[in-house]
Amino acid sequence: MSGDLEQRLAAQALEIDALRTELEETNQGVLALYAELDTQAQQLRQATELKSRFLAYMSHEFRTPLASIRSLARLLLDRVDGPLTVEQEKQIQFIQSTSAEFAEMINDLLDLAKVEAGRVEISPEWFELVDLFSALRGMFKPVLTNPDVLLVFDEPQQTLPLYTDDKKLSQILRNYISNALKFTLKGEVRVSAVQNGDESITFSVSDTGIGIDRAHHPAIFQDFVQVDSPVQRRLRGTGLGLSLSRHLAELLGGSVALDSELGRGSVFSVTVPLQLQRSGQVVPERRKPRT
Ligand code: ADP
Repeated sequence: MSGDLEQRLAAQALEIDALRTELEETNQGVLALYAELDTQAQQLRQATELKSRFLAYMSHEFRTPLASIRSLARLLLDRVDGPLTVEQEKQIQFIQSTSAEFAEMINDLLDLAKVEAGRVEISPEWFELVDLFSALRGMFKPVLTNPDVLLVFDEPQQTLPLYTDDKKLSQILRNYISNALKFTLKGEVRVSAVQNGDESITFSVSDTGIGIDRAHHPAIFQDFVQVDSPVQRRLRGTGLGLSLSRHLAELLGGSVALDSELGRGSVFSVTVPLQLQRSGQVVPERRKPRT
């Protein structure tokens, strides 16, 4: 071997050695980072668990005194203890509506805590899309008090059996619909469903309401997020409904989405599989409806 080649080989060996040392150091750095990430993930998990436990206890403890306030207000309004002046009636009605709002907030908090703690049971069943729509229509009939807003359900053209948790799906849609009714002063709120091939179905609730600026879209499905607007200031709420909807949609193997423009209305949607597949479980045969 010529001296020149030997020299070059030696230089290359040195270079390889240096590279190896560098790689080992980098590897160690990566391992240290992994360990740090692991610790942080564990701390985060613990913090989330603590938060969920605190929320669950707190909401639970609030329920009993709140229930007595509500039933006492009911008794007073029913004149069980004698007549009321007009002013007293107004004040008690105020207590009643505020405690109802409070109860709703507590239910949302409790639901969210349960979802975060992984304690929500999903019970899929076979049901028909039309039945889901008619149940929703029935629920909202008594609360449609604004004559300037129409609630329309686009009736499905054909029968469509679904296998998922209808109660959770209904909870998501109820939340969308009540928001849409809250933030729409004139026009309509439309509920529809479109099948995406053989796999999934997308439910949409569109409204002609105040709309949401694009800047707020990324955060809207997170806990406690509300968009400042004159309607919002008048109405209050918890800012938990949409976050809960997102969690529930994920538990159903699906996702949520928003399309909206300020002043132009909003379309909130949820896409779920037509049949919820759960690991290790088979979808049962659908029993034929009795004729
Ligand atoms: P809440 O309605 O209790 O405040 P949500 O999580 O359901 O909480 O909604 C979060 C926020 O998103 C609302 O406070 C409102 O600012 C905005 N929002 C939700 N739905 C609509 C809608 N259909 N039109 C306009 N804004 C909406």
